[in-house]
Amino acid sequence: MTKSAKTSESFDPLNLGRFELHALIANGEASADIAASPWADAVQPVTKAEISLTADDGVVWARLNKSNEGLSRTRNQEEAVAGFRVVRRRLGAALAMVVQGDGVLVNGAPALPLAVLSVKDSLVLGPGRHFYVTQRLKAYLGPPPQHVLNKPCPFCQIPITDDTRVYVCPCGAAYHDETAESHAQIEPSERLSCVGKIDKCLSCGRRLTYDEFLEWDPATL
Ligand SMILES: [Zn+2]
Ligand SMILES: [Zn+2]
Repeated sequence: MTKSAKTSESFDPLNLGRFELHALIANGEASADIAASPWADAVQPVTKAEISLTADDGVVWARLNKSNEGLSRTRNQEEAVAGFRVVRRRLGAALAMVVQGDGVLVNGAPALPLAVLSVKDSLVLGPGRHFYVTQRLKAYLGPPPQHVLNKPCPFCQIPITDDTRVYVCPCGAAYHDETAESHAQIEPSERLSCVGKIDKCLSCGRRLTYDEFLEWDPATL
């Protein structure tokens, strides 16, 4: 992979984000089979983020905690139930899982030795030990990366030039985001501040935000 020195160095055009495994805490009584227990209205599932990893982490080995329903990182592959790694896909990223233990299920079916997981997948890593896969993303904000130059902004249709500042949604759509801070020399009425004029990405429907956000929150199950 070649690095472009001209545009912002930290920008990853595919914004792989951070994957998280959330434990489903079964309010005291652990259910052995998630498929056999559709949530009764009275039972509010509780989820908790256990492990989070980015592509920079390489392979992360995880073991089941004995003292609680969670999961911890371990350097000792022997005691790990599975290993996880963020991998690049054509668009975005996925979470690869190498299975070490027996009885691991992905979405209710026995896991292959190497499984590729995505957001909303459910995992059973041991009897009664349920987890969900989700992803934490953040939009890029800064000078236009090479690959968005000359593409029309989905809001104003004016092509992106190298003198503007852009907000790039995780889906890849790039919007003008010129502010008093970034473009002090330009009249306020002349600034292209397209992000401020819409709530949601016109391309994918994600909410436009400068904060990190969970692509899907398992607590909303
Ligand atoms: Zn625009
Ligand atoms: Zn989008």
